[in-house]
Amino acid sequence: MSELHFSQRINNWHQQHGRQTLPWQLDKSLYKTWVSEVMLQQTQVATVIPYFNKFMRSFPSISYLANAPIDEVLHHWTGLGYYARARNLHKAAQIIRDQFNGKFPEQFDDVIALPGIGRSTAGAVLSLTLNKHFPILDGNVKRVLTRHQKIEGWTGEKKVETQLWTLADKLTPKKQTNVFNQAMMDMGAMICTRSKPKCGECPVSTDCLALADNCMTDYPTPKAKKKIPVKTAVMLVLKNKQQAIQLIQRPPVGIWGGLWCFPEFTDNESALNSLTMLGIKDYKATELPGFRHTFSHYHFDISPILVEFTQQDTEQVMEQNGQLWYNLQQPQKIGLAAATKKILNSVNKIILKE
Ligand code: SF4
Repeated sequence: MSELHFSQRINNWHQQHGRQTLPWQLDKSLYKTWVSEVMLQQTQVATVIPYFNKFMRSFPSISYLANAPIDEVLHHWTGLGYYARARNLHKAAQIIRDQFNGKFPEQFDDVIALPGIGRSTAGAVLSLTLNKHFPILDGNVKRVLTRHQKIEGWTGEKKVETQLWTLADKLTPKKQTNVFNQAMMDMGAMICTRSKPKCGECPVSTDCLALADNCMTDYPTPKAKKKIPVKTAVMLVLKNKQQAIQLIQRPPVGIWGGLWCFPEFTDNESALNSLTMLGIKDYKATELPGFRHTFSHYHFDISPILVEFTQQDTEQVMEQNGQLWYNLQQPQKIGLAAATKKILNSVNKIILKE
C-alpha cells in the first residue's frame, strides 16, 4: 500500500463528499475546534450541533467560559452526558486564562497537558485549525484503520494502540493534514460505519483487507468479555407458623458482609437434612424461582427452597442458634442483601395468594 496513494484517495473523496460546513468549521478557531472535539467524544455530529451553537452563544471566548460558574457550564451540557468533559473544559479554560493569557496554546505539549485532552484531541485541534502535522486516532479512525489493515486485538490494548498510532502517523500526509484528518473522521462516520459499512462508496476499498475477506464487521476486535466463574447455592427459607422468616447475619467481611441472608447449602438434600438434624419433621417444602446474582468476580446462581412448618414451632431452637425471625408484616430495620429482598418478595407473593 502506498501511503501517498491512501491519503490522496481519502482527500479526494473528502473534497466531494466530506463535511465542510459544520458550525465549528466556519470561521475556525482553536477554541471552537477544541469545544467541538470535546463534545464529539462519545457523541454524534447531529446531536452536537445545537449544543455547540448554544455553547458558543453563551461562552463566545475562552475567558467567558473560564469566568462562568461551573453550574452554568454544566447546565449547557445537560443531555450530552459524560459530564467530566464539561468540568475539564471549564478547568482547562481557567488554566488557559491564567497561564496563557486566555489564548489557546499552539504547542502540542501545552495542549496535551490541559485537562480532558489526550493525544488524539490535541492532534485534532492543532491539525484541523492550524494544519499542523499531527495524526489523530479517534473511534472513527480506529475503525477505518483496523478494517483496512485487518489489525487484530482490542484497540484499548496498549500494544494494539501503539500499532495504530504508528500506522496513523505513517499514513498522515505532511501536506493537507487538516483535510486528511477531517476526511478520516468523516469516512468513519459516513462510510466505514459500525454495522453496515458502505464499502461500495469507499475510496480505499481496493486494498481494504477486511473487505477482501468479507469480514468488515469483525473489526475493530471487541473487548474480550472476561469469563467469570459461576457459583451455586440452595438458600433455605424457613417460615414458621407466625409467618416469620428465619434470617442469619453474614460475617462482617466477604460478600454481603454484615447483611442478613438465608442459610446456604450445596443442594436441596443437604438443606432438608439440616432440618432433620434439628429434629424438625413436619414441614412443606416448595422450590421458589431461582435467579442469578452477579458480583464483579462471579455469578451466583441461587435456588431458594421455602420450608413451611406445619406443626412443630421451632422458634426456640432457631433463636438459640442466634438467628432472627423476620416479620414480613412489621419488618425489622436491618440490612438485607439484594438476593434476600428478592426471595422475601417471592415469599410475600405466596403468602398473599394463600
Ligand atoms: S472498504 Fe469497507 S471496511 Fe474497508 S475501509 Fe472502506 S468502508 Fe471500511
